[in-house]
Amino acid sequence: MADTRRVYSGEHVDVSYDARRCRHAAECLRGLPTVFDTDRKPWILPDGDEAARVVDVVARCPTGALRTHPHDVSGEPIPDRTTVAALPGGPTLLHGDLDVTGERETRAALCACGASQNAPYCDGSGTCSSWPPHA
Ligand code: SF4
Repeated sequence: MADTRRVYSGEHVDVSYDARRCRHAAECLRGLPTVFDTDRKPWILPDGDEAARVVDVVARCPTGALRTHPHDVSGEPIPDRTTVAALPGGPTLLHGDLDVTGERETRAALCACGASQNAPYCDGSGTCSSWPPHA
């Protein structure tokens, strides 16, 4: 699978983003508008707030499109158990100590309908297109 993840560098923490996995749940935009702003280029400025807050808000990204890569602050906690949420008409959300495609991660939205061009991750191209509801 081609790596389409782009890295945005900060002093204390880098943030990486894979657009193919973003489902526009907007947790990032709501959580830290000084860091995440789609009307700005670059749209991610990791130094726009305290690094610890950046780590916290990125950890709310349900799809794993966003990740943090701390230099000198604590990283996102690795959950000691995995939760699975199969959303009706939406993807299957995982949160845990995951290895979906050969690398460790904590959050993932998996395709549940078989239409994704980015399998096993959801890309919103099938029945999951209406998730999240407000998008
Ligand atoms: S929180 Fe994650 S899935 Fe939601 S808009 Fe931001 S990057 Fe995309």
